[in-house]
Amino acid sequence: MLNDKGRPTRPEAADEAPATASTFTGNRALDVEEALIFEIGRAEVTGVDLPTPKGAKSRLGAHARTTPIALPGLAEPEAVRHYVRLSRKNYSIDAGLYPLGSCTMKHNPRLNEKMARLPGFADVHPLQPTGTVEGALEVIADVGRWLIELTGMAACAMSPKAGAHGELAGMMAIKAALSARGSSKPVVLVPESAHGTNPATAALIGFEVKSVPARADGTVAAADVKAAIDDRVGAIMLTNPNTCGIFEPEVAEIAAAIHDAGGYFYADGANFNAIVGKVRPGDFGVDAMHINLHKTFSTPHGGGGPGAGPVVLSERLAAFAPLPFVRIEAGRPVLVEDPSQTRAGETPYGRLAAFHGQMGMFTRALAYMLSHGADGLRQASEDAVLSANYVRASLQDLMTVAFPDHPSMHEVLFDDRFLEGTGVTTLDFAKAMIDEGYHPMTMYFPLVVHGAMLIEPTESESKASLDLFVATLRDLVMGAKAGDAARFTQAPRFSPRRRLDETRAARAPKLKWEKPVAAE
Ligand SMILES: *Cc1c(COP(=O)(O)O)cnc(C)c1O
Repeated sequence: MLNDKGRPTRPEAADEAPATASTFTGNRALDVEEALIFEIGRAEVTGVDLPTPKGAKSRLGAHARTTPIALPGLAEPEAVRHYVRLSRKNYSIDAGLYPLGSCTMKHNPRLNEKMARLPGFADVHPLQPTGTVEGALEVIADVGRWLIELTGMAACAMSPKAGAHGELAGMMAIKAALSARGSSKPVVLVPESAHGTNPATAALIGFEVKSVPARADGTVAAADVKAAIDDRVGAIMLTNPNTCGIFEPEVAEIAAAIHDAGGYFYADGANFNAIVGKVRPGDFGVDAMHINLHKTFSTPHGGGGPGAGPVVLSERLAAFAPLPFVRIEAGRPVLVEDPSQTRAGETPYGRLAAFHGQMGMFTRALAYMLSHGADGLRQASEDAVLSANYVRASLQDLMTVAFPDHPSMHEVLFDDRFLEGTGVTTLDFAKAMIDEGYHPMTMYFPLVVHGAMLIEPTESESKASLDLFVATLRDLVMGAKAGDAARFTQAPRFSPRRRLDETRAARAPKLKWEKPVAAE
């Protein structure tokens, strides 16, 4: 239908574009194909125009470069476009629901960002005289104090840079405590359902790893732990709530068993978001636990910064906390960096990191804690658990809940039995979610479940957002059951790249760009 100026008044019905349609530019609609900076940059172009310095002589002598440096150059608008386009390819929690189980991808309140950008926090340097950064040191001490309070523990080492680094810090404290007692207990128990970082950490510092089986209901039995304990067992590493999203019902009994045997209980605290303000891990016998500030206290990967993995320690391990740490003396923060500054009863096992931790993350975490308050943190956990159980209740008639006998905590675990006979795998299902505009859930983890799909919606999704997510998954499941396998095996159909060889990318990564040789 055209108006009297010959202009269409309504869109013509478009034929459904075939998934493989290509364009002259390689761009798809307003999603612009972006080449590598080495491919588009020219060495002779630059965004700044500096005069050649007069009379300056090179002092490099024989070391002066004789060949061009060949770094790519771009004019300012080209550089801006390059990075803006790249940023638009990055799916993040700010772009949409990110149901990655175990990772707690929650909204990062903008108040955090505002606080982290205050120049007094953003611009401090780790080598500044401590007298000029007392406020920053107090923030470090305050975050530690909150974590001690929330976990019911005795001390907190703030310097670990991520969860896995916190595991290392905590397990090294356990190793130091064992050797201070002169006891040789070289074995660490790790349940089958554990995150891979747990056995890796134990092995890295010289422990032998002994596996504890998971029961058919997704939990770890105290009886199985007791059966595995002998004189050589120095610790157990357990996640609670566990990686199946279940609160371990026998956790206190397991803790008592390992303590009775003279060992220590390391808890992987990645799932702390389910229990903040509800349960204190110290009360169920934990001796060391890392806290992923970038999971439980917002700022997830892709949402605001690097990681931070403070580790809380029980009375039995507190003395072994690594350097550096902040101590409050006469109301003022003191940075303890050197063994000569320690007091009686402080026997740090060494220095864990060059500096005191991830300052930007501490500021964000403290802003999150103070703005939520005790009641708000508890409510966040309750809402996270409610969201996961809402997703579970809305999907359990169509998808198979892996462990139906236990309620879910903050994440719900499905297996792939519901896909049996459809010709669709967990991977295909996840790829089809990408076509629908969703980042897939965590797949194939934990390993104790076949074709695992671990969904963690977090507390920050609205009911409308959860309803659309549920409706999308229901539509996908019904499509798979109705025999539309191509929707899955061909997926993702609408993304700029389709199925990549992820194994080869991991095993044989190309880390260096090489100029393609011009064809003859
Ligand atoms: C994320 C996670 C870790 C490791 O934490 P990072 O900060 O990624 O190093 C360890 N265990 C579990 C269960 C996790 O989810």
